[in-house]
Amino acid sequence: MAEKLCAVKGMNDILPPASSHWEWLEDKLRSLVQGYGYRNLRTPIVEPTALFIRGLGEVTDIVEKEMYSFEDRLNGEHLTLRPENTAGVVRAAIEHSLTYDGGKRLYYMGPMFRHERPQRGRYRQFHQFGAEALGYAGPDIDAELIIMACDLWRTLGLTGIELEINSLGQATERQQHRKALIDYLEGHIDLLDEDARRRLHSNPLRILDTKNPAMQELVEGAPRLMDHLGAESLAHFERLRALLDAHGVGYRINPRLVRGMDYYNLSVFEFVTRQLGSQGTVCAGGRYDGLFAQIGAKTVPAVGWAMGMERVLELLNEQSLLPRQLAPDAYAVVPDAAHLPKVMPVLRILRQCGVGVQMHAAGAEGQGSMKSQFKKADASGARYALIFGADELAQGRVSVKTLRQPDGSGTPMQILLSLEEVPEWANRLKT
Ligand code: ATP
Ligand code: MG
Repeated sequence: MAEKLCAVKGMNDILPPASSHWEWLEDKLRSLVQGYGYRNLRTPIVEPTALFIRGLGEVTDIVEKEMYSFEDRLNGEHLTLRPENTAGVVRAAIEHSLTYDGGKRLYYMGPMFRHERPQRGRYRQFHQFGAEALGYAGPDIDAELIIMACDLWRTLGLTGIELEINSLGQATERQQHRKALIDYLEGHIDLLDEDARRRLHSNPLRILDTKNPAMQELVEGAPRLMDHLGAESLAHFERLRALLDAHGVGYRINPRLVRGMDYYNLSVFEFVTRQLGSQGTVCAGGRYDGLFAQIGAKTVPAVGWAMGMERVLELLNEQSLLPRQLAPDAYAVVPDAAHLPKVMPVLRILRQCGVGVQMHAAGAEGQGSMKSQFKKADASGARYALIFGADELAQGRVSVKTLRQPDGSGTPMQILLSLEEVPEWANRLKT
C-alpha cells in the first residue's frame, strides 16, 4: 500500500465548522480597518530570498533559522516562502511607486511560513492580519495604528490584552547604547548563556529580550536604550504617549521591548495576554523608517503591526466569544426525489430573497426516510424545515415547521404556505 499522505508538520487544515470562525474574524478585521481608510494589498506568498535577508537583517531569528528557502529547479532563482509580510509590502510599494503622491494606508492577511518548533500558538504555516501606514513620519499615525488595534479587541469583545510600548530611537542612538551594552555584558561574561554569547557582538539588543530566568537580574541592570535617546526621539515618544493618554489607552513602558526584526526604529509595541501560556503576544509592530532604504529605494517613513490570527482565535475561544455555528435559515425536506424539478425553483426564489436554504440530497441509499431527513434538518442548525411532501405539492403548497427559535426556546409549530406566498414569507423572515 502507498504511504499515507498527511499535511506537513506544523501546517494545519482548517475544517468546518472552525473555518466559519476564520471567515467571521476576517470579516470583522477587514471592515474595521476599512473604517480607518486602510486598503487591501495582496502580494505573492513567494518572494526573492534576498528581500528578507536585506529587509529583516542577517542576524535575526527568522533569517538565521526559520525561513523556508529553496532554489527554483527550473531557473535557479533563490526563493523563500514569506515569513512575514512587511518586507513584501515595502517591496511592492517601491515596485509600483505607491507613495509617489503621498501616504498610503494598507492592510493584508494571509499565510506566513516559519520553520519553528510547533506548539500551542506556534505553527510553521500561520496567518497574520497586518496593517501598514507608508509615507507618514509623525507619532499621530503610530497612535492611530495602536488605537485601531485596541478598537479591534473592543469590537471582538476581547479582554485582558495589555499594551507594551517602547522607543528604539534612531540608529546612531542605538549605536551608542550598543557600545555601553556590550561593555556591560562583557563585564559579566560568566553570567551569559550560550545564546547571549553568540549574540554579544552580532545583536546584543536581542539579549535584553531573553526568556532565560537565570539572566533576568543581569538584564534588569543593563544600560537602558531610553537613556541614550536624543531630544527628537524622546519628543516623538512623548507625543505618542500624549495621544494614547488622550484616548484613554492604557499601556506599560517596557524598556526591554526590542522586537525581532532589525528594521524597527522609534516606536515599537506589543499586545500581550497572559491567557495563552507562553505564546502570549497577539499583535506586534512598530515604526520602520529605514526599511525602504534598506530594500533599495529612497527613504519613506512607515509604521505597522501584524496580528497572529491563530492566537486571536484561540483567545476568542478561551473567552467564549466565538459565534455559534453558522446555520442555513431553512432545510428543505424532500421525501421523493421525483419532486425535485418542482422544488428546486422554489429554493431558488428563497435564496434570491436572501434566505439560506440547504437542500436535502440523496445519499447512496436513496432519499431516506422522513425521520432521517428531519434528523439532518435538525443537525443542520436551521431554524425552519420546509417540507415538500407529495400531499403539499399536489395542493401547490409547502409546510413550514419551526425547528427552533433564535433563543433556542419555544414549542415547534407548523404552517402551510401556498407556493405563491413563499416570497412574502421569505421577505418577512429577513426583516
Ligand atoms: P514570537 O516572539 O512569539 O516568536 P515574533 O516576534 O517572531 O513572535 P512577529 O514576527 O512580530 O512575531 O509576528 C507578529 C505576530 O504573529 C506575533 O505576535 C504572533 O501573534 C504571530 N506569530 C509569529 N510567529 C508565529 C507562529 N510561528 N505561529 C503562530 N503565530 C505566530
Ligand atoms: Mg518568532
